[in-house]
Amino acid sequence: MVLAELGGKLRDSLRKLHTSSGRVTQTQLNAVLSDITRALIESDVNVKLVMTMRDNVKQNVEQLIEKDDDDDDDDDDDANEQRRKRRASNVSKLVQKAVVEELVRLLQPQRKAYVPKRGKPNVVLFVGLQGAGKTTTIAKYANYYQRRGWKTAMVCADTFRAGAFDQLKQNATKLRVPFYGSYTEADPVAIAEEGVDQFVHEHYEMIIVDTSGRHRQEAGLLEEMQEIAAAVRPDNTVLVMDATQGQAVYDQAMAFSNAVDVGSVIITKLDGHAKGGGALSAVAATESPIIFLGSGEQASLFSVHELVFGANTEFK
Ligand code: GDP
Repeated sequence: MVLAELGGKLRDSLRKLHTSSGRVTQTQLNAVLSDITRALIESDVNVKLVMTMRDNVKQNVEQLIEKDDDDDDDDDDDANEQRRKRRASNVSKLVQKAVVEELVRLLQPQRKAYVPKRGKPNVVLFVGLQGAGKTTTIAKYANYYQRRGWKTAMVCADTFRAGAFDQLKQNATKLRVPFYGSYTEADPVAIAEEGVDQFVHEHYEMIIVDTSGRHRQEAGLLEEMQEIAAAVRPDNTVLVMDATQGQAVYDQAMAFSNAVDVGSVIITKLDGHAKGGGALSAVAATESPIIFLGSGEQASLFSVHELVFGANTEFK
């Protein structure tokens, strides 16, 4: 299920809580929660997250319903019946509110997106697994800022993958963005530090650092990222996640987030068969906002801010 369909499905499920009597029975609540959890899991939102969301709603709401029922036990005259109906319709609204609040808590990042500042060096470190689309995304990200007039440069601190420097160099040359890297230096921390120092000294505003990815979030990779982060002290660390990884996204994002201070997420390959729920799991794991969406090997990035607020607005 893709994200747009998920939105519709959630809305439909929530509508079922608008009952004509205004009351919400245990059976109705269970049916709605089961609809919602199924839709989220089918969209690849992490199973553990969905179960926590369901349990939280149940806990909050069940207490509420029980209290109302208990109070009503002795109500049998008309006035009490009217009061009971009014209270019951409140219950239905409160149940809806509780479900929406839990969904928002599940999907809303705790952190605000980092806003790059003009006229000063903004060091942005890119991390992610090999094949996630980091190098491709860096080129798109550089292009995004360069076209908006930012003095932009790239540093290749990926000494692990043969050809990584050539790939970045090719992209940089095409975009006419200055780059820094080495065919001989094997220490990624030294390259990152030297490259960033050079571009800071030359007053670049957007300094993008590519790091190595490996197939799995193994300890060596995570340690290397920590050392690079300590050396270049990034203003923002962007985690690039491949949306087609589905349920695996949550654990991957968690591992990166525990190792470095991830501040933003970019989701790639949304043009493929990805359902998109992995993206929501990445937000939950890192508590960070998604700033761009990648769709296509060549196409530019979609700024989430621009999608929401329009193309000519500044990222604030
Ligand atoms: P890295 O190892 O993380 O640096 O990954 P690369 O940037 O080398 O990308 C790995 C593969 O994914 C390449 O074939 C890219 O062309 C492809 N790729 C990257 N981003 C996207 C995307 O948004 N959509 C699609 N379809 N392919 C992408």
